[in-house]
Amino acid sequence: MEIACLDLEGVLVPEIWIGVSERTGIEELRATTRDIPDYNELMSQRLSLLERHGLKLADLQAVIGTLKPLDGTLAFLDWLRPRFQVIILSDTFYEFSLPLMRQLGWPTLFCNHLEIDGNDRITGYRLRQPDQKRQAIKALRALNFRTIAAGDSYNDTTMLAEADAGIFFRPPAEIARQFPQYPVTQDHEALRAAFQQASIRET
Ligand SMILES: [Mg+2]
Repeated sequence: MEIACLDLEGVLVPEIWIGVSERTGIEELRATTRDIPDYNELMSQRLSLLERHGLKLADLQAVIGTLKPLDGTLAFLDWLRPRFQVIILSDTFYEFSLPLMRQLGWPTLFCNHLEIDGNDRITGYRLRQPDQKRQAIKALRALNFRTIAAGDSYNDTTMLAEADAGIFFRPPAEIARQFPQYPVTQDHEALRAAFQQASIRET
């Protein structure tokens, strides 16, 4: 049995913080690690913006609940699940992802937790472990599973490298250029074909 390890944002669903920025009108929430490379600095900016605008967890969950999976995601997952065990490896937070997981039919998700106080304010976050996407693949391989991973950005590249096969989905051109060893796919049909090609299954 092979395991398909999928990034979440940018592969199955839209970028959550960009969606939140668009729906709340808070322009600065659009910033990503491309704008502020230091993740801790980026997250403290995001949390102080939420605080300043008085946004609590329930407000964010309501906003995130209006996001929809990307076109083609549901059909892709319907094709993938009978053929592979599917695990989503994401740097997002369980508290944010729940409205999206409901729409995806509750797949297995490995991600991180937010810290929430008694008034539903987001006060911090806890990363489960450093480089968790890569660590997950390493652990699966130690259990003798063959792994095929797909992602769209820098935070996926160590996961792609650790997997038996790695696939890009709509990566920024610069990242695709830096990692020419991974096939680039631009839609879920092509992603499906890349999984078929990477797989050692007969069909
Ligand atoms: Mg992504």
